[in-house]
Amino acid sequence: MRISVDPERCYGSGDCVYRLPSVFTVVGGFGAVIPGWEEAAETGDEARVRAAAEGCPSQAISVSG
Ligand code: SF4
Repeated sequence: MRISVDPERCYGSGDCVYRLPSVFTVVGGFGAVIPGWEEAAETGDEARVRAAAEGCPSQAISVSG
């Protein structure tokens, strides 16, 4: 699974971090993906990532794979 955050769309609301702090963080006011999150992923995290992407208020999160 590949996740990216579009800094052109993200406005740092932090919703993704609230939903899934093991995957998302905020750096410099923008959402970011924590490197290596997949190694520490728990069952269901991929579904949670997709839910976080769908819940992003500016649709800044892209998920593929
Ligand atoms: S939920 Fe979306 S807008 Fe908010 S910090 Fe995360 S990526 Fe940015």
